[in-house]
Amino acid sequence: MSNNIVAIVGRPNVGKSTLFNRLIQRREAIVDSVSGVTRDRNYGKSEWNGKEFSVIDTGGYVRGSDDVFEGEIRKQVELAIDEADVIIFVVDVEEGITPMDETVAKLLRKVTKPVLLAVNKVDNAMREKDAVEFYNLGLGEYFTFASISGSGTGDLLDALIEAFPEKPEVEVKEDLPRFAVVGRPNAGKSSFINALIGKDRYIVTDIAGTTRDAIDTKFDRFGFEFNLVDTAGIRRKAKVKEDLEFYSVMRSVRAIEHADICILVIDATRGFEGQDQSIFWLAEKNRKGVVILVNKWDLVEKDTMSTRDYEEKIKKELMPFTDVPILFVSALTKQRLLKALEATVQVFENRKQRISTSKFNEYMLKVIEAYPPPAMKGKYVKIKYCMQLPSPTPQFVFFANLPQYVKEPYKRYLENKIREKWDFSGVPIDIYIREK
Ligand code: GDP
Repeated sequence: MSNNIVAIVGRPNVGKSTLFNRLIQRREAIVDSVSGVTRDRNYGKSEWNGKEFSVIDTGGYVRGSDDVFEGEIRKQVELAIDEADVIIFVVDVEEGITPMDETVAKLLRKVTKPVLLAVNKVDNAMREKDAVEFYNLGLGEYFTFASISGSGTGDLLDALIEAFPEKPEVEVKEDLPRFAVVGRPNAGKSSFINALIGKDRYIVTDIAGTTRDAIDTKFDRFGFEFNLVDTAGIRRKAKVKEDLEFYSVMRSVRAIEHADICILVIDATRGFEGQDQSIFWLAEKNRKGVVILVNKWDLVEKDTMSTRDYEEKIKKELMPFTDVPILFVSALTKQRLLKALEATVQVFENRKQRISTSKFNEYMLKVIEAYPPPAMKGKYVKIKYCMQLPSPTPQFVFFANLPQYVKEPYKRYLENKIREKWDFSGVPIDIYIREK
């Protein structure tokens, strides 16, 4: 089941990003140790009292941080209202209520979703008193905190968890794969879907969604059966014309979280750019399967660019998660569209794959024997047993006498060996080293 989505809104320089970083800290550290790189600073996963949620910082996307156009803030808040389950509105006690705060408050007062007003930079009793002025925003109770030191964030998080809507347990009647077609505007997502559906509309039903605005559409054609995950947000995209990273990434969040596999459509004439990469890492971070479709391949001069060159270029950006199917398609000429579906179904199977503990040990213990973890501080690390965990996405645990001595490069080695032996193409893998 997908997580709740929290959006942090407010005018520039009120401390949105500091709060965001504080919320995602723990998870981010883990993710960074895997990829070795900090990615998508504006989206992260967080957890409080055992409840997981996704956080979006609407901050980093607004251009011209000091004199932001009111219109831009307005769009940002409207989008947050569309996409998030709970909104945290950050204001700054030092500055007091500014006209832009009032603009934001006015939008938020109309919203039926929970809004938490968070007053930042409150780190002494005097400022606690000053904060009272924010009642004038007409949003009711507020929370005071100091994003730099973290004081007060605990209460804010408690309130946040309380505010999450009760999501009814979804009755999954059919265990069909769930595919989301994602990518930035004009990459050809709609064309791809239309090309598959054809004029006859083989789409069978619109199953009322799992949340109020996610829609599953059953696809049943050419021997393929799956649900296409769409969201009301994506359908309403025409409302927003601007080609901002913010919109395409934010619009993708819910669709990705609802899906098993993301079909990432990119425009061959533009390459694998920033927004495409953000969406890719969003899928990876959510442990979803990924297939990349390089669309509009009909427009590419084949003499100057071969599929192999193109694939190499994309894979450089995918490091270290390069084991991903990349297909060259055309929604226009329908070239290789069925291949694309086949590849997606294969990734779905890969993600479900379970390797028996005996087979896994038989192979991996030999692999480890051939190249054991390097000794640390004169101590030898021994791994005697390993297994796949019964988790929805592939996770493997290796039991060692000194787990803390098994470092990232060795984990990477284990992952590569697993991928060599079994087909996990398109699927993120987690490797854990535990004390035996
Ligand atoms: P979306 O915003 O990702 O849904 O993109 P659309 O499906 O609306 O496509 C954007 C534009 O690209 C449209 O003008 C399409 O006709 C065009 N287009 C989409 N796929 C292809 C393709 O494979 N080849 C060519 N030449 N044009 C395409």
